[in-house]
Amino acid sequence: MVSIKSSLNITLVLGIQVLAWGLLWFASELNLALNIFLGIIFSFLLLTNYALMHESAHHLFHPSQKLNYLFGVLSTSIFPMSFTVFELTHRVHHRGNRTDPELFDYFYPGESRIVKSIQWYGILTGLYYPFVPLGTIIMALVPWIYQTPLFTKRRTFKVLLKDFKNREVFLVRIEVLFILLYWIGMYYLLGLNLTTVLIFYGLWGINWSTRQFVAHAWSPRYIADGAIDLKVSKPHGWLLLHGNWEHVHHKFTHLPWTELSNRKYHTSVARSYLKQWMSLWKGIRLVTEPEPTPIMKVNELSQRASR
Ligand SMILES: [Zn+2]
Repeated sequence: MVSIKSSLNITLVLGIQVLAWGLLWFASELNLALNIFLGIIFSFLLLTNYALMHESAHHLFHPSQKLNYLFGVLSTSIFPMSFTVFELTHRVHHRGNRTDPELFDYFYPGESRIVKSIQWYGILTGLYYPFVPLGTIIMALVPWIYQTPLFTKRRTFKVLLKDFKNREVFLVRIEVLFILLYWIGMYYLLGLNLTTVLIFYGLWGINWSTRQFVAHAWSPRYIADGAIDLKVSKPHGWLLLHGNWEHVHHKFTHLPWTELSNRKYHTSVARSYLKQWMSLWKGIRLVTEPEPTPIMKVNELSQRASR
């Protein structure tokens, strides 16, 4: 069995919290150019934070499920989004990877290429990001909205939101309350500047969103094999906590991030990250492969939780 480096994970989450809030505080007194410079650093720091959120979502952050959850909530608070929303929607992603609700990089004959292209470039340019925190707040305040045809008629939302029952909505509400109190407390305690916060989060939104599909675009339409391993520089790989090995992750979802770069798990030829990312900007393509069957029953994340 592969061991989880839980002390390292905890150190990283706490260190990122200190650095992230420290950067926001430090930049609040500085000019626009320095805000942008420090905001770019902040956006890369939060990529590592995102990788740690992902570890918690897979119950690979810490063997204690309580600590796994609590640190998941702490790391998602600076995304910011609800940990429960992230965990459940990420579970859906692993069950239904490359199925129609997740097929943003292709369009079917008869589908509006314009609408799908707007979605696609929305992801690439970062416009998708604000909908994540916003979606979390809507889930906490007015969850019934997701039961209206506005959402139930859209295949992506229909699949993403089907696991949200009363218990999950309750957890989302507690997490959103925590995030609000934490944010208000830190904002006034550190005397943060709203412009700095907006610049930092604008840059983070772009940096995060533009990568969301890089390891899945143009990959074969298989649930576990519909992902691509990407070649990156060593510092880039460390920032992502080896998240560039996305095919390895989808094939061996029980592996903690510390194992993803281990060659014994590499079963495909890695592509250049930059070349793959550049190819995304050429736009969506006409689909040629059939839809894979989603994994409906296998709840891999919960299985892992009960180990
Ligand atoms: Zn995952």
